[in-house]
Amino acid sequence: MPVDPLTDEQREIRDVVRALARERIAPRAAEIDKSAEFPWDVVDVFREHDVFGILFDAEYGGIGASALLTLVAIEEVSKVCATSGLIIAVQELGSLGLKLAGSDEQKERYLPRLASGEWLPAYALTEPGSGSDSAAMRTTAQRDGDAYVLNGGKRFITNAGIAEIYTVFAKTDSSAGHAGISAFVVEASTPGFEVGRIEPKMGIKGSTTGEVFFDDCRVPAENLLGEEGDGFRIAMQILDRSRPGIAAQGLGLAQGATDYALEYARSRETMGRPIAEHQLVAGMLADMETKCEAARGLLYKCGRLIDEGASGTELTKLSAMTKLYCTDVAMEVTTDAVQILGGYGYIQEYPVERMMRDAKITQIYEGTNQIQRLVIAREMLRENRASLLAGVG
Ligand SMILES: Cc1cc2nc3c(=O)[nH]c(=O)nc-3n(C[C@H](O)[C@H](O)[C@H](O)COP(=O)(O)OP(=O)(O)OC[C@H]3O[C@@H](n4cnc5c(N)ncnc54)[C@H](O)[C@@H]3O)c2cc1C
Repeated sequence: MPVDPLTDEQREIRDVVRALARERIAPRAAEIDKSAEFPWDVVDVFREHDVFGILFDAEYGGIGASALLTLVAIEEVSKVCATSGLIIAVQELGSLGLKLAGSDEQKERYLPRLASGEWLPAYALTEPGSGSDSAAMRTTAQRDGDAYVLNGGKRFITNAGIAEIYTVFAKTDSSAGHAGISAFVVEASTPGFEVGRIEPKMGIKGSTTGEVFFDDCRVPAENLLGEEGDGFRIAMQILDRSRPGIAAQGLGLAQGATDYALEYARSRETMGRPIAEHQLVAGMLADMETKCEAARGLLYKCGRLIDEGASGTELTKLSAMTKLYCTDVAMEVTTDAVQILGGYGYIQEYPVERMMRDAKITQIYEGTNQIQRLVIAREMLRENRASLLAGVG
């Protein structure tokens, strides 16, 4: 029996998203990849059907935030188009700073526009010299009267150039290490804020990934999230809750590729029978399906725990394991799907080569999978487990 902890109402919403994905987004996926243009029409589909509302509480115009349902929606959309799935994931990533650390006034000002999808947000942590080592950032924010003056730049920012607000991390005290980092909400219209180069990429081509610069950019002090020095903690709390979104994107890719390869293997014949009946191909299909189901178990558990209020070390470890496993599965399974299609898998007329290219980024962003392994091991070492070594040696 498939893992399905959804309530009846959540299942209904999932089915709506699944139908939208199949009917409205799947027919656009190849063109989005080919044109490498941001799919505003997909954003319109999400707006019309209140898909962004899944991420937000009713008091801010949402339909009642559910992490589990958010992950399911990202998975469903990513089965047919990972660029479109990422739009939902980044709506969450770019909103989490406000949700977790925003004042009532900040939430009232921004969350309704994010819940309706009127505004898209972004999360700006990475810099040219600081990716995995994010605390080595150089962007600064200096208090000046009723504002902070930001100087520096960020790189590889998803939604660069299309987002209306950016959650930006900058050093308010360069001598204080992690504790010298603060978080700000920066509106794209702020003088001194500029978007630089948008990068051409291997996959998720319709998503924009670009540089943003701050040149004496005066951000009102009321846009500080939490207190000065809270920024690094906020950045990590956001990632604990957003990494499962990337896991969901990875799982969607893996399941979409498995479904496609299965259908292909049923109809493609060699040596007088469908390739699905050759045991080496059947074994690959079985492994692909098993990996997807195992990944889904972790992903849904993670969503359920977030909805039940999990935080701290329990969430950090589970979220890292979920991101690691689901995205490694995404790469393995999409690669196997290409193999099952043989030469046809390698050409652009079939979607699995796009899925394989799209899968690669899931192992890299929001913390590479090497970093996830470091996080998991660190949390394991912190756990107070009963010793098995007593009396040994
Ligand atoms: C398409 C795309 C979208 C992105 N979107 C965003 C976004 O919206 N917001 C944002 O802030 N960032 C974003 N990023 C940045 C992304 O999160 C970083 O690229 C990623 O965290 C890795 O950082 P880096 O590229 O500097 O690699 P580095 O940190 O230089 O790492 C290089 C290699 O070394 C390994 N490595 C580094 N340190 C260690 C270590 N201690 N132990 C073992 N291995 C290590 C890494 O795993 C990697 O294999 C995006 C990147 C891309 C490509």
